[in-house]
Amino acid sequence: MSKDFIPAAKPIIGVEERRAVDEVLQTGMLAQGSVVADFESEFSGLLGGGRPTVAVNSGTSALLCGLLAAGIGSGDEVIVPSFTFAATANSVALTGATPVFADIEGDYFCLDPNAVEAAITPKTKGILPVHLYGHPANMTALGEIAVKHDLKIFEDACQAHGATWNGAQVGTFGTFGAFSLYPTKNMTSGEGGMITCETDELARVARLFRNQGMEKQYQNEVVGFNLRMTNIHAAIGREQLKKVGGWTKRRQENAAFLSANLKGVKVPPIAPEATHVFHQYTIRVPEDRDGFVAALKDEYQVGSGVYYPIPNHRLPSLTHFAPGLDLPATEAAAREVISLPVHPSLDQEDLERIVEAVNRLAGAGA
Ligand SMILES: *Cc1c(COP(=O)(O)O)cnc(C)c1O
Repeated sequence: MSKDFIPAAKPIIGVEERRAVDEVLQTGMLAQGSVVADFESEFSGLLGGGRPTVAVNSGTSALLCGLLAAGIGSGDEVIVPSFTFAATANSVALTGATPVFADIEGDYFCLDPNAVEAAITPKTKGILPVHLYGHPANMTALGEIAVKHDLKIFEDACQAHGATWNGAQVGTFGTFGAFSLYPTKNMTSGEGGMITCETDELARVARLFRNQGMEKQYQNEVVGFNLRMTNIHAAIGREQLKKVGGWTKRRQENAAFLSANLKGVKVPPIAPEATHVFHQYTIRVPEDRDGFVAALKDEYQVGSGVYYPIPNHRLPSLTHFAPGLDLPATEAAAREVISLPVHPSLDQEDLERIVEAVNRLAGAGA
């Protein structure tokens, strides 16, 4: 009998989420309301370091809204990694500013502080590190650079709910942090995002951009969007928030098992300052990655993902921002990475099958 396929990601929706959605549906108050406000304060308390927190309809909206509230726009430059989901640079470009791509360091796949410093120009207004795969960027070094050059820090924490650097939660280091609540992230609201804001005023302006520029109805202060979260999505998110800590622990335990047992591949290191929340468990396969991915799937029924095969600065949509740019560590990562299943639904048999598959395919014997 063939084994069950192990998917690369698996959102967990329980009876609690279903019941909470039904309660909202019964009230008839479907759009942004008190359930969203409750979700904001609970998220702030658990994952946002107590910061003023603004719920929006996606992680991309969280980035865009945060950048606009921070005053980023035409004529500004913001330094971003190229090795990330395109939403990072898209959000900068959508404000009218220019995303400036800097290389990553090869161990943690996050912005290389030296590359960031080299990319600073008189137009640079901020640095937007991504805590990729759930491992924080080097916030000590980036913070020092920001102070030295009078720049703002904006955090893309879309993959890093609960990750810490020197004991402080990601999303609390800069002007704002942006979280995604997409179904494959460590917790979900269906679609959704959160902005953790340094000041009450930033949160106020972010709320303006979320809702057509209105604080008081029909007294629009800025040109804004409709980026509101619904009570329905917030109801899902509130239940997920109660569970995300336990799920993160499972991810970390699964990652520890994989790292202890995988042979012949480079397993993901964890910086001494960091807590890694393992949104992804990412190894490198320097030769014939496509063959490796296909064999995992066809011979062992193990799903995997390549995040991300094309660096942002090579995408047709973004390449005009970086003509001729060469980012060697980014290019190598884009060629070599594979993310293995690490999600909390894996059982011991699944983990052993992943180990056997990778070890056989990497030629080290199981
Ligand atoms: C998922 C993600 C986003 C965007 O979040 P959405 O909720 O999908 O809009 C942004 N940046 C990174 C690094 C992400 O992984």
